[in-house]
Amino acid sequence: MSGLGAGIRLALAGKKVILLEKHNTVGGLNGYYYRHGCRYDVGLHAMTNFVSRGGGSKPFAKLCRQLRLPYEAFQLTEQIRSCIHFPHTKLYFNNDFELLRSEISQKFPSYIDAFDQLTKTVIGLNDTALSGTKFISTRAHLKDFIKDSTLREMLLLPLLYYGSAHVNDIDWRQFAILFKAIYLEGFTRPRGGVRTILHLLREHYRKLGGILRVKTPVVSVTIENGHASAVHLQTGEMLRAHQIFSSIGHRETLRVLHSDNIIPSNAQTLSFLETIATLPGPPWTHHWHNTIVFYNDFESVNYAIPETCVDLHSGVVCIPENYQDDTPQANTTLRTTHLANYDAWKSLSHAAYSTRKQHYLLQSRQKAFTILGQPSKIKPIAEDIFTPLTVERYTGHIKGAVYGHPNKIRDGNIGLTNLFICGTDQGFLGIVGALLSGISMVNYHTLQSK
Ligand SMILES: Cc1cc2nc3c(=O)[nH]c(=O)nc-3n(C[C@H](O)[C@H](O)[C@H](O)COP(=O)(O)OP(=O)(O)OC[C@H]3O[C@@H](n4cnc5c(N)ncnc54)[C@H](O)[C@@H]3O)c2cc1C
Repeated sequence: MSGLGAGIRLALAGKKVILLEKHNTVGGLNGYYYRHGCRYDVGLHAMTNFVSRGGGSKPFAKLCRQLRLPYEAFQLTEQIRSCIHFPHTKLYFNNDFELLRSEISQKFPSYIDAFDQLTKTVIGLNDTALSGTKFISTRAHLKDFIKDSTLREMLLLPLLYYGSAHVNDIDWRQFAILFKAIYLEGFTRPRGGVRTILHLLREHYRKLGGILRVKTPVVSVTIENGHASAVHLQTGEMLRAHQIFSSIGHRETLRVLHSDNIIPSNAQTLSFLETIATLPGPPWTHHWHNTIVFYNDFESVNYAIPETCVDLHSGVVCIPENYQDDTPQANTTLRTTHLANYDAWKSLSHAAYSTRKQHYLLQSRQKAFTILGQPSKIKPIAEDIFTPLTVERYTGHIKGAVYGHPNKIRDGNIGLTNLFICGTDQGFLGIVGALLSGISMVNYHTLQSK
């Protein structure tokens, strides 16, 4: 996504641009594929940052303007309603912020003023500045606003799962970005899923003259006096470019540069288990009306690498049919996400890996049924599962780190004159974030400063 965002922005500026993708199609962490006759989106539960047409200075409106794409082309549908599900309390929210406010004023009446104060502070924060990378602990800072620990943890849960690269915390600026993206703006999904967006971006890029080469891994980059002078492809070809934007991750880029620079290795990177099942009948036949449920079995969230392969005590359950989309639905897609341990999966033998996948497919589905309030024996028509090893294999992200390294490089600068980072490790996450990351890195390094 960030590569496509950067490529379109460069092509719009009249630059000669080539996009190199090692996989057989674009999309990366957010592609799609076919299995057992069903089309599955790899990532997409929801796009954050919903805005209605117009949208002023909101991120999604900015994205449309910067890429010169009409709002309608994204075919956005809005979520029905989502839920933060804790043992004793549920908070519902949708794309009308008043729902969340009224939920908090009913369920945590003493804290509604504090929540309003938090909202005001978050709105006033300049969270997209490219300078200043000092980590500020949200878990610590949030206490200054909200004294009730359950409310704090409930507000944190969706934001951790949808964009924190930090174990058991989230950077305050990232918290502000996600608070706006999820609570103030909300969830959306393009009709047709992620394929709609990828098709739109790819064709737009091509029409602007951009060259796309798939199945073309970059194997190394030659550095001379701090300048990236040549890009070497697996095909044996060598390319030269004035500028290079790398969307593969910081450590992954250093690996390609064969660089001696070492990123602090003590930082833990998080990965996830993701399951997808197609169940017979549309969601309403199962009495499932929520779009996304973020659940936690305890009063506090343990957003950490589990000791075993997977931690089912918290997670995300998503039903992509539960958007305001009038397309007739024959089935229900049930997607679940849980924290997972890369090393634990990696240590398994081939046979044990398959057995463990089957085990967690079932366990995760049963957990989702319980959370959705319908302990059920519905048999899936088709199902699939991704472990951290799957993420690593298909995207190249070391240890399947979906949100990359915790230390972000906001200005994309890794000490080279003409090679910059964009995407996950630059710090803007998710589909909208990744696209904006590609755009802002080109604006900063190509269009503004030169
Ligand atoms: C299971 C899952 C669920 C998700 N759900 C959502 C969601 O609901 N909503 C949302 O907004 N976001 C979601 N995300 C996150 C979102 O997908 C990412 O934040 C975003 O797509 C990252 O884009 P990127 O450009 O930074 O990186 P990537 O998507 O990682 O793109 C990097 C690209 O580089 C390619 N590449 C790697 N190495 C090389 C090489 N050597 N040579 C050439 N090409 C190479 C990869 O194949 C890949 O296509 C999800 C992610 C996952 C894994």
